[in-house]
Amino acid sequence: MKATVMYGAHDVRVQIVPDAELVEPTDALVRVTRACICGSDLWPYNSMPPNEIGNRMGHEFIGIVEATGPDVRTVKKGDLVVAPFAWSDGTCEFCLQGLQTSCLHGGWWGGVTLDGGQGEAVRVPLADGTLVKLPVGPDDAVMPSLLTLTDVMGTGHHAARAAKVQPGKIVAVVGDGAVGLCGVIAARRLGAERIIMLGRHADRIALARAFGATDIVSERGDAAIERVRELTSGLGAHSVLECVGHGEAMRTAVSIARPGGAVGRVGVPQETTIPNAQQTFYANITIAGGPAPVRAYIEELLPDILDGRIEPGLDARAAAGSRPTQVPVPFRRPDRREVNA
Ligand SMILES: [Zn+2]
Repeated sequence: MKATVMYGAHDVRVQIVPDAELVEPTDALVRVTRACICGSDLWPYNSMPPNEIGNRMGHEFIGIVEATGPDVRTVKKGDLVVAPFAWSDGTCEFCLQGLQTSCLHGGWWGGVTLDGGQGEAVRVPLADGTLVKLPVGPDDAVMPSLLTLTDVMGTGHHAARAAKVQPGKIVAVVGDGAVGLCGVIAARRLGAERIIMLGRHADRIALARAFGATDIVSERGDAAIERVRELTSGLGAHSVLECVGHGEAMRTAVSIARPGGAVGRVGVPQETTIPNAQQTFYANITIAGGPAPVRAYIEELLPDILDGRIEPGLDARAAAGSRPTQVPVPFRRPDRREVNA
């Protein structure tokens, strides 16, 4: 079968690899019908040292079950299924509390030993705990939104949960990539009254507005912090969603949270420390977050997508057409640090 393999920075090849096949009795074999490239794929794409073995790529996919091992109970041949970005058993201490990314027996797609989602088929370990059956056909119009359940929509939702978004409150979202935009959707869904998006890409800002952002801050660094303070009567946001991961974004996030507020971080940290530790201590700011247990959120978010209450797969061109952006930003080649997870 064909699959993508990354051998180093800027070296991604589509090549023939061994066919995916059942190994364990708890496996399912899934033929991939849709897959995504994640912002987090861009980190190795820009920086991976050359490697002769190569890494299989892709952790966001939807597909049709072709075969199941004898112990699989919840999905069967012919089912259309969505896979979260990590696989898990669904039965251990952490899965039962909804933290499937800490599953005692789970793991991550791709790499050297497992299939990735960017291929024609995937061997899915622990299929009962991992896969969720979708009640639509593989070419349904809602497919772009369903694909976001594999990662970005659940991750944005996790940021909102970690940041304790509450009805009627002020939320700020740092990062206008796919996760930040899904964070806007999640904040609105949880009832936030004002949603301040920090971003500067015109097309993404158009989407953010379509998703419910009420204010846009396109300044950077201290100017951005100052602008959010102005917008919040000098107090800061109740909840801040940090959806980038590099140090400047985290510094901004902790600086725009109000005393007693919370920062939910889901951008993969590129630094080993959290900035402004003393400032956040004296302001009683909660800092939470991590890899989203996307599997826990699929069942919660799926009905909203199927009923059209949220549309995370909305096309940027459609959003731009329906709501012209008020913050035109000249095109500029983004540097690596701006690539959002
Ligand atoms: Zn588990």
